[in-house]
This record gives sequence, structure tokens and C-alpha cells, in this order.
Amino acid sequence: MSNPFDSPRCAVDNGAMDIVDFHTHIMPTDILRHRSAYCERDAHFALLYCDPGARLADADQLLASMEDAGVARSVTFGFAFADPDLCAACNDYVLAAAQDAPERLIPFAVTNPAAGAPGLAEAERALGAGAAGIGELMPTGQGYALADASALDPLMALAREADVPVMLHVNEQLGHTYPGKCDQGPREALDVAQRYPHNRLVFAHLGGGLPFYELMPKVRAALSNVYYDTAASPLLYEDIALQHMLTWVPERLLWGSDYPLMRQSRFLRRVRRLALAPDELARLLGGNACRALRNTASRVEEV
Ligand SMILES: [Zn+2]
Repeated sequence: MSNPFDSPRCAVDNGAMDIVDFHTHIMPTDILRHRSAYCERDAHFALLYCDPGARLADADQLLASMEDAGVARSVTFGFAFADPDLCAACNDYVLAAAQDAPERLIPFAVTNPAAGAPGLAEAERALGAGAAGIGELMPTGQGYALADASALDPLMALAREADVPVMLHVNEQLGHTYPGKCDQGPREALDVAQRYPHNRLVFAHLGGGLPFYELMPKVRAALSNVYYDTAASPLLYEDIALQHMLTWVPERLLWGSDYPLMRQSRFLRRVRRLALAPDELARLLGGNACRALRNTASRVEEV
């Protein structure tokens, strides 16, 4: 079977390039049906989802949203619970969904690196079962800081060995507070990138503003292996932020919605309203994702 990431549809200058959403969450049916039980089991999950109006989605809903929005492929993962067993339940669900829709879903694995051996074992198991990356990890929510080398060293070593990206939740440290806003921002993200220069990293949520600091050449040099996704950015920033960021990190900005928090179709409409050159748009909506997923796509194909 050919590797879709080697196909011309991955080329940045190809008008027919597939759109990739790099940041979506799907949850097992049991979590959708019994969310309050899971709120009792995980304080960070409760913070984000105990409100019954907070949207949760399963794989079928994501696939329907992709169909509606014209999204070809989504990187998708569950929720990074503190308990590795709950992470495992999410990973099983995501991996099975990706096996049912291998051309559409790219599975990432959640785990808790602060859980010690069981957390590492879960990441290893999920990668062995076809996960194409690790994340989205939630440092604060799962009870560790990005500076916690004892938690992250073994996981980063595993990711390097498997040659897969690691996606970390990072957010801005200014502005209003909201549920889930954590204390790990651009400073901590830069430190992590410097500690693990050989890991391919994805800092979610525009890296909390870190791309701006890439205008400092010494900072940029430390971030050459780092990608940023746009997850949930319309909730925080004016849309033009993406246009600025593309001038700062043109090859490393990934369009990601944070579905179901954001609707894919609406977010895409907003992106298309920006005055982006066709090649910029192509990179943002898929070209950069192809590079961020290099090598990992072939893992998916092998399964
Ligand atoms: Zn996040």
C-alpha cells in the first residue's frame, strides 16, 4: 500500500492538496454516556467537561464533521487523563477508529509520563499498536511540569526511538483565565525544546505565543524541530494572528481545530478569509502537517 504522505497531494504547491486537521479529540462511547462518572475520576477532565454543555465527540461525529468541512485527514486523540488505565481506554478507542478509517484518521496516543513505568508502558504499547505520535499531553492537568525531567526523559527517549512527534499542551500566560488554562507557557516550552533538541515536538495552542520569540535568531535556532498548532486560537486571538505567525514560522505552523471545542467548518471559513498567499494556505492546511508526520505515516500504513 502506498504511503499517502509521499503522494503529490502532500505537496505544498499542489492546489488539490488534502486538508489535515492536526488537533482533534474523540472519546470512547462510555465517556460520552457517563461523563459525570469520569468527572469524579479525574479533576482536570472535570474542569473541562463537567459542564454538560462542553462538547464531547466520538469518531463517527468527527468523520461527519470532516465530511462537512472538507477535511481529508485528522490527527486525533482522546483525553490525557492522570490514570494510565483511562489513557489506555482512550488509546484503544482511537486506534480502533483509525483502523476503521485508515485514510481519514491519524491516531496519537495519550499517556501520563508522571505515572512512571505504567505511563511509559502505555505509550510503548500504543506506538506498537500503530499510534503515529504521542499527545496531546496535559502537563499541569496530569500533575507534572514541563521542567520535570524524571517524568519526560523516558517518554522523550521512546519518542525519539520510534521517530514520532510529541504534542504538548502549552498556553499563553497573559489575559483572562478560563477552565483548563495551565501554568506552562512559552518559557517552559522553550526550555523543553532545548532539553530535547532531537525530539520532534508540537506545541499546541500556538505555543502560548512562542512563535513571536522566533524572531530572535538564537531562540529560533533552538526551535528548529518544533511545530505549533492553531488549536482553539479563534477563542483567544484575532484571526490575523495566524497570518503573522505564518510569516514567523512558515514551515512549522499546523492548522488544528481542537474539535469538538471548535467547529472545523467554521474555523476553516475564517482561515480562508485571511489574505494568505496560496502557498501559505497550502502549508498551513496540510503541507506542514505532512512534514510533521514524516516517517510516522509509514508506521500507520504498516499496521
Ligand atoms: Zn490543549
